[in-house]
Amino acid sequence: MNKYIFHTSDISNKDFELMTSVFGADPEDKDGFYSLQSAKNIDLSVIREQLQCDVNILPDNFDGGQVRLLVTDMDSTLISIECIDEIADMLGIKSKVSAITEAAMRGELDFEASLMQRVALLKGLPVEQLQRVYDERLKLNPGAENLINYLHESGIKLALVSGGFTFFTDKLKDRLGLDYTLANTLGIENGCLTGNVDGDIIGAQSKAELLLKLSHDLGIEPHQVVAMGDGANDLLMMDIAGLSVAYHAKPTVQEQTHIQLNVAGLDAVIDVLKV
Ligand SMILES: [Mg+2]
Repeated sequence: MNKYIFHTSDISNKDFELMTSVFGADPEDKDGFYSLQSAKNIDLSVIREQLQCDVNILPDNFDGGQVRLLVTDMDSTLISIECIDEIADMLGIKSKVSAITEAAMRGELDFEASLMQRVALLKGLPVEQLQRVYDERLKLNPGAENLINYLHESGIKLALVSGGFTFFTDKLKDRLGLDYTLANTLGIENGCLTGNVDGDIIGAQSKAELLLKLSHDLGIEPHQVVAMGDGANDLLMMDIAGLSVAYHAKPTVQEQTHIQLNVAGLDAVIDVLKV
């Protein structure tokens, strides 16, 4: 049987009837979302289009009630911007940097090399400009607070892993009460960026390694971990997790993950933890 999940609280009578006829089963109202089990293999792209909401199939062996850890990417996943592109904007070179970011997130460039290249372009920028990006431009994606509150209430740990920068992950950790963070440290000298990353580059491999280390430390199995992201450098960690969530992600990422959210906010992840 396939476990279908519909990430919407609002289904019209007409859509309810459509679902019943397509799936051969009645959708069950789960207070915030709908689910049903069906032996039929339905083309998800068609039903998503018809219902205008996110529809997913959960992996057979996934049990949301067993999840103890959520590992999420930061830029364009937990938050709505790519921090490095906004930092570049402070130097008037946003288009140059964002073109590289975009290609890296599609998986067309080596992430580590492209990050060093982009950070080098930021050399000389006063640190206060990073604070401006945080204060003026960094916004949480819709549903972030709901999701984080639910994780806190449920005792599920939350790790923020980012190919971005500790300047931002540290602030979000304090503000949101996150359990773990991992990101790159921008080199700073005399109050300005050096154009280098201090220490090892945090990329796809480091994200996956942190997921494994935290699972080991918490004494849990990979099927008790949800990993979420939007870019190619999230795929390694997503491969290991019991459930991978592509959040408003690149097509190459969507093709390789268990579920995808393209309409709903981050709190739709709560649905999969409850089902
Ligand atoms: Mg991202």
